[in-house]
Amino acid sequence: QTKPRILILGAGYAGMICAKKLSKKLPPEQAEIILVNKHSYHQFLAQIHEPAAGRNDFEDVRVEIAEVLDLNRVRFHKGIVSSIDRERQQVHLSDGTVLSYDYLIIALGSEPEYFGIPGLADHALTLHSLNGARLIHTHIANALARYKAEPEQKHLLTFVIGGAGFTGVELATELADWLPELARRYDIPVEKTKIINIEAAPCVLPGNDAFLCEQAAQIMAAKGIELITQDPIHHVESELVCLKSGRQIHTGTIIWTGGVRGNRVVEASGFPVQRGRTPVDAFNRAQGWENIFVIGDCSLPFGPEGKPLPPTAQVALQQAEHVGENLVNLLTGQPLTPFRFIHRGVVASLGRRYAVGKVKKYRATGLIGHILKEAVAIRYLYKLGGLPLVIKKGLLA
Ligand code: NAD
Repeated sequence: QTKPRILILGAGYAGMICAKKLSKKLPPEQAEIILVNKHSYHQFLAQIHEPAAGRNDFEDVRVEIAEVLDLNRVRFHKGIVSSIDRERQQVHLSDGTVLSYDYLIIALGSEPEYFGIPGLADHALTLHSLNGARLIHTHIANALARYKAEPEQKHLLTFVIGGAGFTGVELATELADWLPELARRYDIPVEKTKIINIEAAPCVLPGNDAFLCEQAAQIMAAKGIELITQDPIHHVESELVCLKSGRQIHTGTIIWTGGVRGNRVVEASGFPVQRGRTPVDAFNRAQGWENIFVIGDCSLPFGPEGKPLPPTAQVALQQAEHVGENLVNLLTGQPLTPFRFIHRGVVASLGRRYAVGKVKKYRATGLIGHILKEAVAIRYLYKLGGLPLVIKKGLLA
């Protein structure tokens, strides 16, 4: 009799932690585990704004999958998932490979949501992958270099970030800390550079605790970031951002941080979706499919009052642990347990030395906030690769 095959799609936060859990808890004779990912490395998406804006090296925010997973236990298959055939229990990859499964764990993450804003997808950079972060990094340095060659092109020194959710705020503040150093390197007075963060809502980090929003806005102002609120980006042209109010901003750099949606493969494979995320049941299973689990940003789980949970790393990690446990239960004849999300709080970096966070009723700002943010990153590294990974990526970085 052949062993059941568990196929995990995606090596983001959710896929990696689930693979890790299963490889530790399921003896090899119980099931075969295959992990599919488009790169041979896992990226720490919550931190890629740091190297994007020159804080540290790109190597610090990724790790080779082979370094943290036992590949004798989990078979790694490098490939791009193009579709899922639920009826045949098969996954198709872009190179024509077909992988069958008994249990499927979809952890394909998210992608930028452009909301159909004209010109945006064509002209904006996005902070959604390590490669996207690299593009942002070189693009910004290149804008300064171009300005030196063509000083009449003053718009090259204006950097526009569209959307002031966590991603936009973290990137804008990080960039504000990098620009003085970069401007010096290119012999440009830093006063000539400008960062503009545009937000559709009346405040930054809309929907979050007022304390977080106020702190973030204050630090952004202190760093000289121009914040435009209640004026959504209406359309974008080459080097031009047009707002709903009619205001136009001439710029050499447009970075879109205005929202995310679930990976398109989920929708294209016939799963019902809301902004690309497929609703899951209490066991993180795709509705109506007992052998398909969906975790992380492409899933839509619900909290205790039936409210949708946001697409955050925190939710993804808890779902991953939960599905890992439940699959072990399933394969060893134990009952399944329902998913209960525990909200541990939020913390957003505000540049290289500051962060703002709220954990339970405790609030942290400034350096304490920064230490909290670092602690969250180190906790994750420890979970993924133990002390060696903490030392390599967290402490020596
Ligand atoms: P988001 O959806 O949270 O924020 C996008 C922002 O863009 C919103 O404030 C929205 O009002 C604004 N926006 C939308 N359309 C606009 C337009 N046309 N013009 C101007 N502004 C517009 O997206 P995100 O910040 O990428 O975050 C995605 C998810 O990841 C969220 O759940 C977030 O909490 C999470 N996240 C968390 C952290 C952290 O905890 N430190 C960091 C990054 C992301």
